[in-house]
Amino acid sequence: KWTGLNQLREEFLAFFEEKGHTRLPSAPLVPQGDNSLLLINSGMAPLKKYFLGQETPPNVRVTTCQKCIRTPDIEQVGKTARHGTYFEMLGNFSFGDYFKKEAISWAWEFITQRLEIPVDKLWVTIYLDDDEAYDIWTKEIGVAPERVVRLGKEDNFWEIGAGPCGPCSEIYFDRGEKYGCGSPDCGPGCECDRFMEFWNLVFSQFVNDGEGNYTEMEHKNIDTGMGLERLACLMQGVDNLFEVDTVQNIMKHISKIAGVHYGEDPRTDVSLRVVTDHIRSTVFMVSDGVVPQNEGRGYVLRRLLRRAARHGRLLGIDRAFLYQVCDTVIDENIGAYPELGEKREYIKKVIQNEELRFEKTIDQGMDLLGTMLDHISAEQIKAGKAVLSGDEAFKLYDTFGFPIDLVREIVAEREIGLDEATFNELMEQQRQRARAAREQMDTIAWSEDVTAELDLPRTAFVGYEKLDAVARLA
Ligand code: ATP
Ligand code: MG
Ligand code: MG
Ligand code: MG
Repeated sequence: KWTGLNQLREEFLAFFEEKGHTRLPSAPLVPQGDNSLLLINSGMAPLKKYFLGQETPPNVRVTTCQKCIRTPDIEQVGKTARHGTYFEMLGNFSFGDYFKKEAISWAWEFITQRLEIPVDKLWVTIYLDDDEAYDIWTKEIGVAPERVVRLGKEDNFWEIGAGPCGPCSEIYFDRGEKYGCGSPDCGPGCECDRFMEFWNLVFSQFVNDGEGNYTEMEHKNIDTGMGLERLACLMQGVDNLFEVDTVQNIMKHISKIAGVHYGEDPRTDVSLRVVTDHIRSTVFMVSDGVVPQNEGRGYVLRRLLRRAARHGRLLGIDRAFLYQVCDTVIDENIGAYPELGEKREYIKKVIQNEELRFEKTIDQGMDLLGTMLDHISAEQIKAGKAVLSGDEAFKLYDTFGFPIDLVREIVAEREIGLDEATFNELMEQQRQRARAAREQMDTIAWSEDVTAELDLPRTAFVGYEKLDAVARLA
């Protein structure tokens, strides 16, 4: 059967076209006309306007493969088998047309008949009191009742503030005991990598008035999301997302540059996966118009690039190299995203510039941090009392642009703590100073200098919306 990532994408979209859906291209990663979100993080996000009835969709049934960025997952990347900051999400959508029954039975048909995934590997979850979904799964589809697990609101109820919301049903693949955490409670929904969630079906059937009152909608919607890399991982029987065919080639390129073999040392393996992930997300972000900046999504881009560069250092690469890996990312994705080819030189230039800029500061920052940490005694560490002060961490940031997530990782490696509260306080003070200064100048220093350097048109300031993703990266 089809197992290649590119084949699986095509198979999915074609399947839902057969079911009367219109195939739409992926929207750009930068939300269009939507200030509530920094970067597109699901297939549904760019279609929100159709769900909210603000615009009429080209068809009541739509299918897409959407590029997604999820920076809140950054800490998991490289450590779990299943998280990337970048991934593609396959989805089928109903705008007031079909509902639960069709959504469930087509999902099941696709995975068990088209892809021939063995039924005995599959588990499903439903929302606690969603008996309608329970009955469809057990009576109409014929899934064994003990394979249908009821989960609570955190896992299986989709909602963002006021507006449409509803229960979810997720499909899991059991990868076997060797991936398990060994806990007697291990099952779908467990954080370990044994039961891999790969498809989430959202039944948006209620409207929340913002005060917790739910009313049943007249025109109910379907929104599903299946991670393409996760599906490919299962179909290819590989260990994790980074070993999937097209993704693996990127990792191989990095291994080659580093002269490091994948699978030899768990620590270098994490770094290889992190670089592989971050170079994918940054190539797509730059292609969609994001440039490195000190704020907003440009800041997310900068942090990802710097984190990738730092993991490159951990792999022993002591020069700019990410821009070279861009070529492999582009070659592996050009079939589905031809715009990458047109923008090849531009993407490489933006990434190389940022790498060179970072290179100057990282060595100095690493030296200084090394000195700071050397002053902490072994006894303090042993006693679990060693802490890098907020002032020191801030000095690294302020003088060398040394990102706090790097500091956090480095101190953790030495079992040293970090006074983040003080650091955050100092950061906030600096932000206020910068804001005041900017208001005076009526310009954004960073975006000015980056765009000048690249000889690019200046991008519009995106504002301070949704800084939570950034906060996590900072
Ligand atoms: P998990 O519980 O594993 O973190 P999730 O419940 O957060 O996943 P959803 O928000 O339901 O994920 O997104 C729909 C689908 O998108 C998931 O079932 C999964 O296949 C895929 N997906 C979500 N997050 C990621 C990620 N960080 N990397 C790769 N694929 C992802
Ligand atoms: Mg998640
Ligand atoms: Mg989940
Ligand atoms: Mg989910």
